[in-house]
Amino acid sequence: MAVNFKELGLVNTREMFKKAMEQEYAVPAYNFNNMEQLQAIIMGCGRCGSPVILQVSKGAREYANATLLRNLGKGAVEMAREEGFKIPIALHLDHGDSYELCVSCIEGGFSSVMIDGSHHPYEKNVELTKKVVEYAHRHDVTVEGELGVLAGIEDDVVAARSVYTQPEDVEDFVEKTGVDSLAISIGTSHGAYKFRPEQCTRNEQGVLVPPPLRFDILKEVERRIPGFPIVLHGASSVLLKYVNLINENGGALEAAVGIPEEQLRKAARSAVCKINIDSDGRLVMTAMIRKTFKEKPAEFDPRKYLGPAREELMNMIIDKNRNVLGSAERYD
Ligand SMILES: [Zn+2]
Repeated sequence: MAVNFKELGLVNTREMFKKAMEQEYAVPAYNFNNMEQLQAIIMGCGRCGSPVILQVSKGAREYANATLLRNLGKGAVEMAREEGFKIPIALHLDHGDSYELCVSCIEGGFSSVMIDGSHHPYEKNVELTKKVVEYAHRHDVTVEGELGVLAGIEDDVVAARSVYTQPEDVEDFVEKTGVDSLAISIGTSHGAYKFRPEQCTRNEQGVLVPPPLRFDILKEVERRIPGFPIVLHGASSVLLKYVNLINENGGALEAAVGIPEEQLRKAARSAVCKINIDSDGRLVMTAMIRKTFKEKPAEFDPRKYLGPAREELMNMIIDKNRNVLGSAERYD
């Protein structure tokens, strides 16, 4: 049976983005696959008064079970209210790859969906996005489209190289499709290995620094569609602290490189209203679980290794909201 997001206490992204645009910050969109990640996102965003977009990929929805997920969304809102958090909460489909999937999510209580037609030829992308928008808007669900292709791997989405967004396409795309926000490609990338070491330089500390984001493209996009909400995917910083913790505790991550936080801070102050963070959350969870396993090899209660991971993820989220996205203390 179909359920509208409003019955679950969720909101779409319209008001969130309006406020983020006016006050020059970005709303965090955190991906999750399990209960502990969801708890950490709600507690982290709630404690620092940040709006939040709970983000679910197609793969995560299959992993978690669509019915359970809908109820998790409802439970997350109820938990937040019981904790006294006034933050708005959206439930968003990340990288929807078909009209049918978007419809299924909307019927299942999602308040926002992404239709990613970026790998299609332009006209096909317009046609598919427009079709999703027409259905979504009848249910007051907001839609994110994408122009330009990001490199990297995210679930089934694999792209060998990035294709930057062509700024001259954006007005036409937004006008023809009626989308509410637009993901663009300006040099971010999916996954923990965003750049090859040979693409990077090394700073004084010996840390790999990737090529800077294409702020010139972002600026031109802003000039053409002023006040329109822009989304950045593949925007984890791949925090060195957690990469090192993983490797010190039996892991083998090599030369993982992310987007420097100061570049994200700059983007958050522009028309970028939503920043997606997935890999950083995965790294925190893995680092803490590995650390516990190494320090306490006799431990076999999942709460004893997932609990510390959840705690650390919550702290990472608070730090990111406060110091990178600027989304904290907006709903106290
Ligand atoms: Zn993405």
